[in-house]
Amino acid sequence: MITVLAGGTGSIKLIRGLASQHCDLKVISNVADNIWLYGLYICPDIDTVIYGLAGILDPIQGWGIRNDSFQCLHQMEMLGEQTWFKIGDRDLATHLVRTIMLKNGNRLSYITEWFRKRYSVSAGVIPATDDPIETRILTDRGEMHIQEFWVKHRAEPTVFNIRYKGTEHARINPEVILAIRKSKLIVVPPANPVSSIGAILAIKGLKEVLVDERKKVVGVSPLIGNRAVSGPAVKYMEAMKLPATPFGIAQNYSDFLTKFVISKDDRDSYGMIEGIGVKVYETDILMKSSDDENRLASYLLRQT
Ligand code: GDP
Repeated sequence: MITVLAGGTGSIKLIRGLASQHCDLKVISNVADNIWLYGLYICPDIDTVIYGLAGILDPIQGWGIRNDSFQCLHQMEMLGEQTWFKIGDRDLATHLVRTIMLKNGNRLSYITEWFRKRYSVSAGVIPATDDPIETRILTDRGEMHIQEFWVKHRAEPTVFNIRYKGTEHARINPEVILAIRKSKLIVVPPANPVSSIGAILAIKGLKEVLVDERKKVVGVSPLIGNRAVSGPAVKYMEAMKLPATPFGIAQNYSDFLTKFVISKDDRDSYGMIEGIGVKVYETDILMKSSDDENRLASYLLRQT
């Protein structure tokens, strides 16, 4: 069994690659960017993983369902609602059904498992916690939910700090601990180190389990040539006073990371990463096609 800690857009590429290698996969999903909007509970990272593995993820946006229409959103706009968070018509069904199930008293992990089966996904998808946690961005325009920062304000405000609301009381899903303990490999894929992986690690007790199992942990850098392939990773890392380099990421994960796959473009980080006791592997880590995803996943399984 292989466990993957997951955010959204970057993570799903490697997860799809691993799935193509017929791995028995358990995906631990970030839930700190979940948000209540339009009366619905939206779980962007869970949905990206499920849609991605179901083969219906929009390949251009990296979120939502391929070829979806936006009639409902247009109508809401016409009625004067704020529509900065885009939800397609078919995607809307997921949020409606999830919200109904939540209001009927079901836990998020039960609901996610139900969706996994409905979408015929064979990998397990486990929310890191069933309790509400939230990544909050402290900016020059005030403190805001991560979706407000990233989607509504298009990541424009200056970021001073990032905090994880609710993580001190949130309980890790017991299945997460079981998966980490039982896996032969634990993968930290290219994901936002602060808002995705950082938010999972902030849940009390989770990091300790990873530290215990550190011999099995391999990471893939989300930075290539010291730049993010997509998303606001560099902005968040700078706000958290982390060097925005693969070394900064390895250092941030160093309590539990033993192997780290980086791009040849980041050879200058090599010595520093090995200096903190993390073994470095170099390969092409850019995934632009399913061939790239499969190649990187197969490299991980063979070389690390
Ligand atoms: P998340 O997807 O929810 O974790 O949020 P972000 O979009 O902020 O983070 C995704 C991370 O994955 C970013 O830091 C990207 O640089 C990284 N990423 C996306 N695609 C690739 C890729 O093909 N290769 C690598 N190595 N990193 C990628």
